[in-house]
Amino acid sequence: MKQRRLIASPLPYFSAHLSNLKRHRLTRPCSQFSNPMPWLLMLALALAACLSPGLSLAGRRPPVAPAAAGQSKSAGGELVCPQTAAIGEPFVVRVKLAGPAAQASLTFMGRSTSLALRVSGPGAEAVAVLGADVLDARPGPQDVVVRVTPLGGGKPRTLKASVELLCVKRPVERLTLDPAMVDPPDAELPRIGRERALARQALGRATPQRLWKLPFSHPVPGELSSIYGIGRILNGEPRSPHRGLDLEADIGQPVIAAADGVVALTGGFYYAGNCVYLDHGQGLITMYFHLSEVRVETGQRVARGQVLGMAGDTGRSTRSHLHFGVSALGRLVDPAPLFLYDAFP
Ligand SMILES: [Zn+2]
Repeated sequence: MKQRRLIASPLPYFSAHLSNLKRHRLTRPCSQFSNPMPWLLMLALALAACLSPGLSLAGRRPPVAPAAAGQSKSAGGELVCPQTAAIGEPFVVRVKLAGPAAQASLTFMGRSTSLALRVSGPGAEAVAVLGADVLDARPGPQDVVVRVTPLGGGKPRTLKASVELLCVKRPVERLTLDPAMVDPPDAELPRIGRERALARQALGRATPQRLWKLPFSHPVPGELSSIYGIGRILNGEPRSPHRGLDLEADIGQPVIAAADGVVALTGGFYYAGNCVYLDHGQGLITMYFHLSEVRVETGQRVARGQVLGMAGDTGRSTRSHLHFGVSALGRLVDPAPLFLYDAFP
């Protein structure tokens, strides 16, 4: 059996993965997936473009003008979000209010959450993690809208900013799995349907309290073995892209919580195997799949770093590893950037 290499910090892997993504942001319309060869060719071209300022990738979109996106400022407050984000890339938005507020809610791509406001000087501030899903998002501008109800009544105010979603050319991998894990037997379909409904319900949570902080802790110290967004051909059939990170882990190795949270769901699922869903508040959920053992219960409050269970190879898994997923307002996004953010409370 192959000896697994454990590393002190997976950060270099995540950094390399993220700089690849940055280089592969594309113009629209675009096809998200590619064969590995063009992916390598693109990488070579992008490297050449970095080295020679006169050379640029054909069709690359000009940067969005600073005034057109990313920021909304008024006498009542400020909403700051990045001007651009790759589809699948999570991003942080910050809200700063000039005066005290009773309540604030945020809406992005048709989904909403209340914001946990913290007093800041004479006003208040809040942060949220948002993102678009590689499965179904389209490139183009999307509004982030924050509605604020002032303390003691008064007319609600609206802050609005826009983020331009960009395509990323992504590689494709071919995997050979147990045929029952690619086309499950009819007898398993009701079970799979029930488990999907439970997962949807857990991912639909938008608890107003914010428990998360960035950066996230690494749930296991193992190497990154499969990235978010990679296209998948399973037993010769094109399937949904991979919407999480695979991290190397031995059976029985402890898996820890990436941030403070409340256990939203646990189970022994057909695809996810033994799994834990943690609700970190404001629609941010993390997922831990293929465990050999679950050590927490639904409703339990857990601290960042607390053991949730043991790594394994249950469900649709070809070897022992941890599949780590992140959902932002019900959309599965790339967990990797959340390990790399500068710390903020
Ligand atoms: Zn996975």
